[in-house]
Amino acid sequence: MKVLVINCGSSSLKFQLIDAQSQELLFKGLCERIGIDHSQISYTATGSEKVKKEVAMPDHKTAVSLVLTALTESGAVASLSEIDAVGHRIVHGGEKFTSSVVIDEEVIGAIEEVSDLAPLHNPANIIGIRACMELMPGVPMVAVFDTAFHQTMPEEAYLYGLPYSYYTEYGIRRYGFHGTSHSYVSKKVAEIEGKDYESIKTIVCHLGNGASVSAVKNGKCVDTSMGLTPLEGLIMGTRSGAIDPSVVEMIEKKTGKDTAGVMNVLNKESGVYGLSGNISSDFRDLEDAYIEGNENAIRAVDCFVYQVVKYIGAYAAAMGGVDCIAFTAGVGENSGFIRKLIVNRLGLFDITLNEEANKVRGEEKLISMPGSKVNVYVVPTNEELAIAKDTYALLA
Ligand code: ADP
Repeated sequence: MKVLVINCGSSSLKFQLIDAQSQELLFKGLCERIGIDHSQISYTATGSEKVKKEVAMPDHKTAVSLVLTALTESGAVASLSEIDAVGHRIVHGGEKFTSSVVIDEEVIGAIEEVSDLAPLHNPANIIGIRACMELMPGVPMVAVFDTAFHQTMPEEAYLYGLPYSYYTEYGIRRYGFHGTSHSYVSKKVAEIEGKDYESIKTIVCHLGNGASVSAVKNGKCVDTSMGLTPLEGLIMGTRSGAIDPSVVEMIEKKTGKDTAGVMNVLNKESGVYGLSGNISSDFRDLEDAYIEGNENAIRAVDCFVYQVVKYIGAYAAAMGGVDCIAFTAGVGENSGFIRKLIVNRLGLFDITLNEEANKVRGEEKLISMPGSKVNVYVVPTNEELAIAKDTYALLA
């Protein structure tokens, strides 16, 4: 089954065509600046050169239509009838969606209903669904939610210490994100270990520009670091992560910014970017500066590393132990430097880093020494493949 995976943002659209059975990637690309000037599409059909061109994209329907044209023009498919299904990445499923679902009008309505939880993302996701429905009538579509995997968290993990009615009336609670990745990686770890997914305790560290940690016990997510929105938890590329809520009031008073202005600072000007005095949000730049002895970079990276270590300790306690730790996403898969800083602080767990193995980039690998009490892995995530597999599983 050939599945077109769509990840539709407010001004961008990422796409991949995947053979869900052979797990082969056939085509991938990106539309940028949709609805803005100088919009462009770039794509690569497997085995061919990358194509990049500037084309007017006033709306998402135009973008989807250009993707479909590119699929045939590039030879990725001979005709559009080869596309068997579409899998859509949906950011927020609220409490309504605990797993992926086949999309119908009722599902679209339910995604709309939880839109106030993700006002930037869900409406864009729905626009993507509608555009595909119009241009590919009759092709079945599946919604895969970033939040669904975390719906198994117990009340004690997802409730905030707020008036309970805020939860029951407004849905204010921890939801967690990157669920597709945490699910995919934790399953992979069980597979590599040759253990039953239902009887293993894994901590997944998804460290990218956005970053989150999750605790997966006996096949279920029991806690995760992101909250109502992706702003909570770890210090990230540009996001602050967890702070005392009073900080918001204090920044407002000191700078004269309104709440929207402060939220912009917390989302876009904080994290390792802000902490480093704006050196960069990219860990490659920070790593280089760190090695050169740049104090600002050292401060930012050390704060980031400390938070990851702290969550690992907390989640080991929450699960009553931990069997495996996995690193994934841009930083987790590629930066041996950051992994080493983290793992070297996990002596409590009797983990010794295998320095040679830790040189790995973007490959599945055990990076702890044999005899370590907890096995530490690098496991590349593949959210698009997970979406394609879910789509296939629901439709086959
Ligand atoms: P997101 O999907 O949240 O945008 P990714 O998972 O793609 O993020 O991760 C992107 C980040 O990964 C980049 O900002 C960069 O900091 C980091 N990264 C990628 N390659 C490397 C590398 N070789 N060394 C260190 N960091 C890297």
